[in-house]
Amino acid sequence: MVPFGLGKNKPKHYRDMLKIAWENRDNLGYAWRILNHGVCDGCSLGPYGLHDNTIKGVHLCLTRLRMLRMNTMPGLNTELLQDVSKLQAKSGEYLRNLGRLAYPMIRKKGDAGFRRTSWDEALQTIADRLRKVDPQRFAIYTTSRGLTNETYYVAGKFARLLGTNNIDNAARLCHAASTTALKYSLGVAASSCSYTDWIGTELLVLAGANIANNQPVAMKYLYRAKQQGTRIAVVNPYKEPGLVSYWVPSVPKSALFGTRLMDHYFPIAVGGDVAFFNGVAKVLLENDWIDRNFIQGHTSGFEDMSTAIQGQDWDTLERHSGTIKNEMARFAEMYSKAATAVFIWSMGLTQHQFGVDNVKSLINVALLRGMIGRPHVGVVPIRGHSGVQGAAEVGSVPGEYFMGLSVNEQNAQKLNEIWKTDGIPSFRGMSTAEMADAAYRGDIDLFYIIGGNFIDTMPEPLYAREALAKVPLRIHQDLILNSSMFVEPQDTVILLPSRTRYEQKGGGTITSTERRIRYSPEIDGPRIGETKSEWEIISELGQRALPPEKRAAITFADADEIREEMDQIIGPYSGIKNLKKEGDSFQYGGPMLLQDGVCNNLPDGRARFSAVKPQNDVVGPGEFYLTTRRGKQFNSIIYGKKDPMVGSKRRDDIFLNRNDAAEIGLKSGSKIVLQSKTGEFRGVCRIAAIHPRTVQVFWPEANVLIANRIDPASMEPDYNTIVSIKKV
Ligand code: SF4
Repeated sequence: MVPFGLGKNKPKHYRDMLKIAWENRDNLGYAWRILNHGVCDGCSLGPYGLHDNTIKGVHLCLTRLRMLRMNTMPGLNTELLQDVSKLQAKSGEYLRNLGRLAYPMIRKKGDAGFRRTSWDEALQTIADRLRKVDPQRFAIYTTSRGLTNETYYVAGKFARLLGTNNIDNAARLCHAASTTALKYSLGVAASSCSYTDWIGTELLVLAGANIANNQPVAMKYLYRAKQQGTRIAVVNPYKEPGLVSYWVPSVPKSALFGTRLMDHYFPIAVGGDVAFFNGVAKVLLENDWIDRNFIQGHTSGFEDMSTAIQGQDWDTLERHSGTIKNEMARFAEMYSKAATAVFIWSMGLTQHQFGVDNVKSLINVALLRGMIGRPHVGVVPIRGHSGVQGAAEVGSVPGEYFMGLSVNEQNAQKLNEIWKTDGIPSFRGMSTAEMADAAYRGDIDLFYIIGGNFIDTMPEPLYAREALAKVPLRIHQDLILNSSMFVEPQDTVILLPSRTRYEQKGGGTITSTERRIRYSPEIDGPRIGETKSEWEIISELGQRALPPEKRAAITFADADEIREEMDQIIGPYSGIKNLKKEGDSFQYGGPMLLQDGVCNNLPDGRARFSAVKPQNDVVGPGEFYLTTRRGKQFNSIIYGKKDPMVGSKRRDDIFLNRNDAAEIGLKSGSKIVLQSKTGEFRGVCRIAAIHPRTVQVFWPEANVLIANRIDPASMEPDYNTIVSIKKV
């Protein structure tokens, strides 16, 4: 290890911190109070202030610091919006830096831009349409940008009171596959263990997850785990430098010299997860490296799964996994020696047309050795955004009114009684991608988008843009500007200025990846223009749009009242009403779900094995499998072109294996064009430790290449595609 990581690619923690302090210099006191008292609005680890419940010491990372400015910046000059043609081609970073959306704005068809309007006019215009709209032709999309459980709950209730189940959230784009697979396999849709279980487990497996970039403080958990003897194995097409070794800024020795983290690396093809984990399972079965007592006592479907795997020959598994039998055997043997193991995965597994099967194959491997319901074991779909675990659980999802109450006729009646109303819909609502398709067909009359940049985050941006352009009334409720807002109105576009989570009246709660529901207080500081709390806007809209007899159901005196209601009706959220001050939290289900391997939500309490087979494309001659990666960014918000973790300095870098590059006559810096069925992407070759016949491109820029395809089991889009490479 080299002092200060000289000559290595590493995050520039201290330099970036100074830069961020300078950026926030006009509001430093408020910035400090947010950091010190708020629950992070970045990824899903869910710290309070500068601390967490996992390890002692400071919990802070550059992602959180970079996001601070969104909370501290002043309002934007509304005159800038009078002619959007000047803003249309601007980058997300430029638009964001113009400042916070401060007043309601309206733009009609043919107008050059937006004019300022009153809340009264904005809400009345929307409410008038809502009263007439066919509920099947009205949809709500909620993003994960700092939204609280209170907002998601009120949005879900608002949709149902207005007669639609067309409501979805941003988790559809990242972990819908995990939710579906986990519910089927284990009867729960969340991490089965706590972060503390990672520390001291014998084996920690990271599959398709780059936590060094996306959940940076988790690297500190890994550092502590290593100190306790945990071995770390990574299954991924790219040997992520940040996972090989990392500079933990709050640990002096590590900050100076770096810490080696990865012990075992298993390179596989993009989408090769089912083949790889089935291969691992095959070796486990052949050698009887399995926990027969656990399988007999706590699972079902073992025979079908093992028959299916025995029927998959090694040639098939090698071709689809992109690796050889010996590597799968190496994983199996390593795993067979571990008495405890935690499996962590992310979008490398989920964002595929067969994402549910990918996750099921990993869970099979976990179940074969009984890795649930004990200390230091578990399965963890690690989330990238602070709001997404809670969003679906409290009702911002088309298939469930909220956790434990799926959409059907019987439950609709039940909900009518609970909410003292009638007309709760029982039709199947649209998921996010289905909303885009319906809008494209002209089947959506009113689209209410709460946060997020729809065009940037969906595959095939031109398709998403055209879809938005066909919606007669579009509402964007947000903190800042983004390019989706500038799509020409079919009739009317309304911008509703909202408050950050730290400005929400009465504070709010957030559910972390380890199922911890945490209170984040309202924090003293400037309030921008006429902004309102997110849930308050939805509630006021409901009061105008709903018939008088239903208005009480969407009226809340304060955030406490919303929590009281969630407490009463969402079983696992019972206790949320007691969260009233900074630091208050609880883990629903306790630190460990599925205690002693009992899956209470499944028949006979038994976990389910799944018989799954590889479905990923095997690339043909001249073809490459493209997948996406994240750099210095949070979701689609880009904070800088450079990604110091991999030494990249530009967002159009195309990551390619050395041998593949040489075969085409490329070297680092060569200009190349990627072509897919959907579009083309121009960039420069960057040689990387990546699996053969694989290319990686930063997301969301890569979306131009990606066709609009979804996993039918979870409705999650596939963000991968086959491309060809041409030298310019
Ligand atoms: S690791 Fe995630 S939760 Fe922790 S400070 Fe960073 S962004 Fe926030």
